[in-house]
Amino acid sequence: MTQNLSPSETSEAGTAKAVAASENSDTFASLDPRTGEVIAEYPIADAAEVAAAVDRARIASRWWEAQGFRGRREWLLEFKKAIASDATSLATVVSRETGKPYGDAFLEVLLAVEHLDWAARNAKKVLRPRRVPSGVASFNQAATLEYKPLGVVGAIGPWNYPVYTPMGSIAYSLAAGNAVVFKPSELTPGVGKWLEDKWNSISPSQPVFQVITGLGETGSALVRSGVDKVAFTGSGPTARKVMAACADTLTPLVAECGGKDAMIVAADADIDKAVEFAAFGAFGNAGQTCAGVERIYVVEPVYREFLDKLTATVSRAHPGGDTDSTYGPMTLPRQVDVVRGHIEDALASGGKAVLGGLDSIQGLVIGPVILTDVPETSTAVCEETFGPTVVVNQVRDLDEAVDRANGTEYGLGASIFIGNKSKGRELAERLRNGMVSINSVLGFAAIASLPFGGVGESGFGRIHGADGLREFSRPKSVTVERFSSPLKLMSLERPARDLRISELMLKYMHGR
Ligand code: NAD
Repeated sequence: MTQNLSPSETSEAGTAKAVAASENSDTFASLDPRTGEVIAEYPIADAAEVAAAVDRARIASRWWEAQGFRGRREWLLEFKKAIASDATSLATVVSRETGKPYGDAFLEVLLAVEHLDWAARNAKKVLRPRRVPSGVASFNQAATLEYKPLGVVGAIGPWNYPVYTPMGSIAYSLAAGNAVVFKPSELTPGVGKWLEDKWNSISPSQPVFQVITGLGETGSALVRSGVDKVAFTGSGPTARKVMAACADTLTPLVAECGGKDAMIVAADADIDKAVEFAAFGAFGNAGQTCAGVERIYVVEPVYREFLDKLTATVSRAHPGGDTDSTYGPMTLPRQVDVVRGHIEDALASGGKAVLGGLDSIQGLVIGPVILTDVPETSTAVCEETFGPTVVVNQVRDLDEAVDRANGTEYGLGASIFIGNKSKGRELAERLRNGMVSINSVLGFAAIASLPFGGVGESGFGRIHGADGLREFSRPKSVTVERFSSPLKLMSLERPARDLRISELMLKYMHGR
């Protein structure tokens, strides 16, 4: 049964809470947010331990690179098999540490496995050496491009999808030939350890994938440890700190941050379908989804029908900590205050709650809240809520919907429900973000060949797909002279005749 932690408890920072639960200052506790029960204690790795892990990873990375594409593919498919055959155990750990229902946790594991499989199978195709055209001016040269591993990648993960999200960095880094040191969120260390144990079960002597546990300081130590790239997934404020630390050493960074994704509903949309996806996209995982639906813009002719149907559907949701709950409690206690603040701001600025309201907050469990007529300047519309609330606003037409959807600093994903798919594609082009699903939500997240990431406050760089593999590689360009150039231009004693010929060539080739 669910234990609803009291609001005063929920106002404590999640991290502080986890640490307070531990008697030993060298360790921290992982809690089940449904009961408050301590699941296990984990060590807080200090800078020296982080450095030691990175040193081990650097040695292992040489072995890993020497495996070549084919060898790495075999190892990673073994890793995948080991995870997939024990998926129920991993989903159970995810469910306990996050409080999400087992089914949601299982879905997350399934998607993570799909990504690992794709990365393993496609790394060679995307990254192998290939000849590229050398152009007329360099026709005497053979040009090749290949993508080499960076060395050691430091991955830092969030708690909301503790397997799926970091796997977007881990799988693609490993497949590109890097060793990985992973710092899971302090709320979900057990998930990280489970994955490390699985890797060690297939490769006990090669620490190509290691996990270090700890709080923010451990993450900070990883960023400063001399890794060759940082793959950070988490909030914008933390990303800024990570980026500042990376600047000291020019360590490259990929930052996958928050979102305020909009859904647009057109007059010719299949409303029942839009409602079903809106309910899942906004309230699934208690709204703790970076690319979840937080705002819905519905054109006037179908606004009332959409709102009524969404309210009816969502009112059947029963959140809590039971096995059949629609969604679980808030995983991070302090997020409750953010959700409360956004509801308060929406109501104070003229918005209406058509389902739930401030009373929906019962400790860590928050009943579904649907807000409408909320001004676009309200925090409920412009800041990431990361809770089981959604704003449904009426718009005049699709142009206004696009303008409003583009109106926040975020730019992760969006969804469009529309009958006319070519119009849908046109709208998708106009959205300032990284990903759009037409007639589904989060469709892009499940397709391993599609890059995942955003713009603005949502971060930069890409995980998943060919771009995700290249994100963890360095392009290497090599030219081989096939024969001496007939024109001696790269010479301290350049013949005047060769310069004249090249002037004529330039005019002929580019000046017309
Ligand atoms: P967070 O920023 O609080 O923490 C993320 C990670 O950073 C944790 O592991 C934490 O220990 C670590 N950390 C904290 N301080 C650090 C420091 N100074 N240096 C290095 N590491 C440090 O985020 P969170 O609450 O765990 O995750 C929720 C956020 O993540 C939301 O904003 C959500 O939208 C975002 N998210 C984004 C994506 C995406 O792919 N775009 C996916 C999932 C979650």
